[in-house]
Amino acid sequence: MEKFLLRNTENPNSADIEEYIKTGGYKNISKAFELQPSDIIEEVKKSGLRGRGGAGFPTFMKWSFASADKKFPKYLICNADEGEPGTFKDRPILEKNPHLLIEGMIISGYALKAEYGYIYLRGEYPYAYDVMNQAVRDAYDKGYLGDNILGKNIKFNLVVHLGAGAYICGEETALLDSLEGRRGLPRNKPPFPVNAGAWGMPTIVNNVETLANIPHIIEIGADAYSKIGFPDCPGPKLYCVSGHVEKPGVFELPMGISLREIIYDYAGGTKNGKKLKAVFPGGISAPVLPADSIDCAMDFVSLPKAGSMLGSAAVMVMDETVCMVKIAHRAMKFFERESCGKCTPCREGTEWLRKILERIENGRGRNEDISLLTDISNNIFGKSFCALGDGAAGVMKSILKHFRAEFEEHIKEKRCRFKQKD
Ligand code: SF4
Repeated sequence: MEKFLLRNTENPNSADIEEYIKTGGYKNISKAFELQPSDIIEEVKKSGLRGRGGAGFPTFMKWSFASADKKFPKYLICNADEGEPGTFKDRPILEKNPHLLIEGMIISGYALKAEYGYIYLRGEYPYAYDVMNQAVRDAYDKGYLGDNILGKNIKFNLVVHLGAGAYICGEETALLDSLEGRRGLPRNKPPFPVNAGAWGMPTIVNNVETLANIPHIIEIGADAYSKIGFPDCPGPKLYCVSGHVEKPGVFELPMGISLREIIYDYAGGTKNGKKLKAVFPGGISAPVLPADSIDCAMDFVSLPKAGSMLGSAAVMVMDETVCMVKIAHRAMKFFERESCGKCTPCREGTEWLRKILERIENGRGRNEDISLLTDISNNIFGKSFCALGDGAAGVMKSILKHFRAEFEEHIKEKRCRFKQKD
């Protein structure tokens, strides 16, 4: 498949505006400005684009809700708070193809009648922050941003805002709190951000990869775009692969490719040919899959049928040397630390899960611990205020479902047989 999102990124100067323009960059703005804003929303609808941040919500729907709201100003926010463990799919766009994102935001801003945009960038991406800021400055200098873009009397101003390192700020309403200068906590919904988001005004929050797809839709048209990859959620997709593979990295592939193809055809297979044991197909918040499930298609529709979800498309591969009790312990440590504390099931539950896993891993597990882990997970799942709690509980339940015998063995033997292999 021809690359679009990562086009030209092997060029060491790909972030330079002149290089971007040389390869056809910013041409799609002029094309988009010939259309009415509502026509662009219709194109996005026809394209079948779904948000690439994790939930896979149809992009046009979010856009239509915000567009129907008559309040102004409207804000377009790019969620670049890529903080999920194992997730680095947006990073090559931010660091190597920043003008693609800016072009996507200008077109989206025009379609949504949003004259102000923010890129909320992960605090731990200082290099991307510098690259994006330079790219924004260059785009202003060339007249692609500002109050009178390309002399067409179209306005779009863009600011890069650095987050402070909280995972919860990737949740769109917590992101808005943080952007407004407060501690990031998920907000009550409704009202939804499309009607009452940043500073109480209609706000569209889209992921980096989602916005980077917009110029492609304008360039090749919705019909051609909708034929890429899986018909129910088409388009190119960035998959980031890490863990026990020969060639970890970010791969641009058609949506719906199988997990097996990603691991073996693109990431070079398991490291040193070791036996595959488990894969998290969508980051640490997506339920784990055992080795015999890797023929599933990697898209928003197929993965739930296989017992997981696409999430951030962060494929974390684990071979036979990995202890799944340790993985569960590490995952819960992360969720406990990143739980914002707003609701009791997540705040207390993640701490209890971590404590129980810690003692099992250290050979002090009790016979009742597996049922306790299940019980606590059930009391978090569906009872938490935002997706972080469900993510933690869902992952815990999936590890227990597929690797229960390892937990039993740890408790019975009072040791971890994988430890000497670390
Ligand atoms: Fe905060 Fe966790 Fe509740 Fe989400 S589920 S609001 S992260 S305490």
